[in-house]
Amino acid sequence: MKKRIIGIMGAMPEEISGIVNLIKNPEVTELGMRTYYQGEINDVNVVVVFSRWGKIAASTTVSTLINRFNITELIFTGVAGAIAPNVKVGDIVLSQRVIQHDMDSRPLMPQYVVPLHNKIFFETSENQINRNKKVIREFIDNHAWDDERFKAFRIEKPTLWIGDIASGDQFFSNNEQKQNLATAFPSVLCVEMEGAAVGQICFEYNIPWIIIRTISDSANNQAHIDFPLFIEEVASLYSVEIIKRAITNNE
Ligand code: SAH
Repeated sequence: MKKRIIGIMGAMPEEISGIVNLIKNPEVTELGMRTYYQGEINDVNVVVVFSRWGKIAASTTVSTLINRFNITELIFTGVAGAIAPNVKVGDIVLSQRVIQHDMDSRPLMPQYVVPLHNKIFFETSENQINRNKKVIREFIDNHAWDDERFKAFRIEKPTLWIGDIASGDQFFSNNEQKQNLATAFPSVLCVEMEGAAVGQICFEYNIPWIIIRTISDSANNQAHIDFPLFIEEVASLYSVEIIKRAITNNE
């Protein structure tokens, strides 16, 4: 049997540094403008890396994790903009399916179809969803949400959503972009820039994968919060709390 090694990728350096701090004496490898940290979290082998932003950055990083570091599972953690009306800043979204909202090979094939795969969506396995759902609920139910740091962002108790995530090489910051995506894909909960690339490559290599996103903004013009403060105070805490519960030997 292949040795179990979990790749943990994030699109925010602050989140990644919190996760790296969970590893005792990590082995550090610099490769292609990325820094890979190898070691153990809760006695499980992990490789942790900051992917940089966008689908290309995510693709090359996940390929390196698979081919050079021999990972057998992948967890992506990051932030995203809310698309569905009830999804709020501070909520958490787990991927059921991912789509590339900027894929368009018309007239060769219908809009959004990924060439040669002949499909629009890549799906996370039920097993990945169930395992992560359980630990995220545990985190939400046991954390003290009345802390000042959450009040500053009007976060009460976060909601955990499981559903579709759209990715593309665009930062969403106006209502028109947001509305167009919501109309094209009413099932999409949030938008970000890496998840669908990760889903496609893990599918191609048959690696179980999941995307975990904390909602940082409302993907429109009025929603611009203090982004660096949100990452530092909220998103980094979520990532560390979730990863330290998600990485275990209990299958
Ligand atoms: N503007 C931020 C950094 C860019 S955020 C800053 O000032 O530091 C880009 C990252 O956040 C990407 O990894 C993307 O996946 C995610 N993201 C968060 N909100 C997003 C949105 N509204 N549209 C697209 N990507 C978003």
